[in-house]
Amino acid sequence: MLKIGCHLSSVKGYVHMGKEIISLGGNTFQFFTRNPRGGAAKPLDTEDIEKYNSFAQNNGIDVILAHAPYTLNCASAEEEKREFALRAFSEDISRLELVRGAMYNFHPGSHVGQGADKGIELIADILNRVITPKQKTVILLETMAGKGTEIGRNFYELRRIIDKVELSDKIGVCMDTCHVYDGEYDIVNDLDNVLREFDSIIGLERLKAVHINDSKNPFGSHKDRHEKIGEGFIGIEAFERIINNRYLRELPFYLETPNDAEGYRKEIEILKNIYK
Ligand code: FE
Ligand code: FE
Ligand code: ZN
Repeated sequence: MLKIGCHLSSVKGYVHMGKEIISLGGNTFQFFTRNPRGGAAKPLDTEDIEKYNSFAQNNGIDVILAHAPYTLNCASAEEEKREFALRAFSEDISRLELVRGAMYNFHPGSHVGQGADKGIELIADILNRVITPKQKTVILLETMAGKGTEIGRNFYELRRIIDKVELSDKIGVCMDTCHVYDGEYDIVNDLDNVLREFDSIIGLERLKAVHINDSKNPFGSHKDRHEKIGEGFIGIEAFERIINNRYLRELPFYLETPNDAEGYRKEIEILKNIYK
């Protein structure tokens, strides 16, 4: 069965998100661990989490994806911002340890002019300080579109971060279709070759999730503007090949398209219908 879901608001808690995704026809979902642009997380509601864990088990929700806030920049030049990233990161992970099937996705960061080498070093430093040998939550580096000074603009940069992490068995990758297409990986005309490249540089065993988004901009534009499925430059035929690809078809897919609930319901249905 296709593992498919979309980004949901987490304000009403885990049980609410679980019920919402089932009502939208999905079986997995993504959410922000805290306000995507703000700071503090809301108080931990362990009762909600316990209820969610049994709801998920009873309703076939095996994995979910927590997304770190955009403000979290492990590669910042400012010590204060890196301290915030470190704190938010470790708090998020310790909370996610309680949640059934949760993985944690983050944008590697922006080096803000310090250079990719320095940025990669700073990111790995934080990962080495937050990852503990006992944690079960896998941390996913997201493939980025390469706008501004974003790190993760290509597979090599992700590989270099992973190489510097001591407990790297806790690290995986989330591939965002809009971002990689923006980043000059031709998943429309040559998906096989892109995956071969991913495998030789990072290793396909590290690929744990896919953000499934169409793109408002043409190939290689490094802009990062998501479009509804089938309405952008990637197109529905490419998505049909992507969700059915033998290396991808078992992974969870997350829509981050510009949609309301009804729009997501439709996209989930479309994708389920073209899944073989
Ligand atoms: Fe993201
Ligand atoms: Fe994404
Ligand atoms: Zn994006």
